[in-house]
Amino acid sequence: MTIRNRISGQFTLIVASILILFSLIIYGTSARYRQAEFYERLKRKARTTVRYLIEVKEIDRDLLKIIDQNTLAALINEKVLIFDERNQLIYASVDDQVIHYRPSLLDQIRQQEQIETTDGENEVVGLLYQERGRPLVVLASAYDQFGKSELRNLRRTLIWGLFGGIGMTVALGFFFAGKSLQPIADINRQVQTITARDLRQRLDEGRRRDEIDQLAININSVLERLEQAFEQQRSFVSHASHELRTPLTALKTEIQLGLRRRLSAGEYETVLHNLMFDTNRLIALSNSLLLLARPLENVGHMRSEVVRLDEIVFSAQAELLNAYPHYRVQVDYDTPPETEIDAYVKGNETLLRRMVLNLLDNACKYSVAHCAWVRICMDGKTCCLTIRDEGIGMTADEQAHIFEPFYRADGALNFDGFGVGLSVCQRVVDFHQGTIAVASEPGQGSLFIVTLPRA
Ligand code: ADP
Repeated sequence: MTIRNRISGQFTLIVASILILFSLIIYGTSARYRQAEFYERLKRKARTTVRYLIEVKEIDRDLLKIIDQNTLAALINEKVLIFDERNQLIYASVDDQVIHYRPSLLDQIRQQEQIETTDGENEVVGLLYQERGRPLVVLASAYDQFGKSELRNLRRTLIWGLFGGIGMTVALGFFFAGKSLQPIADINRQVQTITARDLRQRLDEGRRRDEIDQLAININSVLERLEQAFEQQRSFVSHASHELRTPLTALKTEIQLGLRRRLSAGEYETVLHNLMFDTNRLIALSNSLLLLARPLENVGHMRSEVVRLDEIVFSAQAELLNAYPHYRVQVDYDTPPETEIDAYVKGNETLLRRMVLNLLDNACKYSVAHCAWVRICMDGKTCCLTIRDEGIGMTADEQAHIFEPFYRADGALNFDGFGVGLSVCQRVVDFHQGTIAVASEPGQGSLFIVTLPRA
């Protein structure tokens, strides 16, 4: 069911219920008023008749009957009956019709003094009248032709009004629901033309006032973010394939060299060493790309546990010096930890070691002396690492970009690297809810500060 049909259906249901309720109230109230008025009329008739008969000496029963039957205002089926205390009929305004009454009704009137009831289609009123200590019961009944025909007309008018009202509500509800939903239909049409290949399209934001305009604005901002994300992904893929090609080309050249002619054992060994070196570079690059391409929570088995940050630093130092024995890394404590608990952080050991390794590698790589100084500081809430070098440094402009994937400062192009190490560091720090900052001066050196929450 479309929203348009649902809205017009609900609207019709509400209006129809209100119309029916009002019609019932109007009809019910009119019917009650009619009956009350008619009873009042019958009571007046009953009182007048009994007063004429008893109090006006000049009028006897036959005269009264003639008067009753010839009154202009006589009602249809009108009957007035008067009974004495022994239920003997002492007066009847009609004589050619059969007079129905229940004796129990007379007793009821004597008890209640006044009664309003119905007899078939006729309304009946009973009154107790005291004539010099003698209780007389007067019964007056008639058919309210005028009132009932008025009521029938009212009922017909209400029923037609109801059908007309409901019909109009359906038509108007359908029309206005369609009109109100038109902007959504427009948005639908525009959204259908947007594809992953062309995310530059934007929806019409109208006059930016109502909820639908707001929806268009929000969809546009989602499209904006999607377009940026697609753009980043495209550039990531193109950078990644470019960076992968370099070591692969080197590998191919080495292999071609080995195949071109028969080499001596020593030359083969050199080729194999070179192949090993390039393969390691490829493995390192693909590992970094993997860490950048997916949320860290989804990469491998990234369990978080309580780990000692200083031990991670020492193990990264050992790993680096093992690969590059000519590097120098000096590790110091700001204040040595009193207990091992002081250096505990909650995190993933593999990721944290990778981060420290990247920072130490950069510090040694980008300085002529290949030296790095690490300081471990702890306070009540955080564990902090500072990695300092006296290398080439960076300008403020370069510092603003170094955490972007594949960015390499001009001064770094003479050094080996892919431009992904610091992006990985940033992701690892984010994953551990920490921060990473840099301070650097070109030609003076750099200082990286990593702060992690303590376990
Ligand atoms: P890579 O070192 O492989 O180029 P990174 O992502 O680790 O990639 O670093 C990005 C860039 O940041 C480097 O290319 C370099 O320009 C700059 N950089 C990082 N660390 C240092 C440092 N210690 N001294 C000077 N520049 C650095």
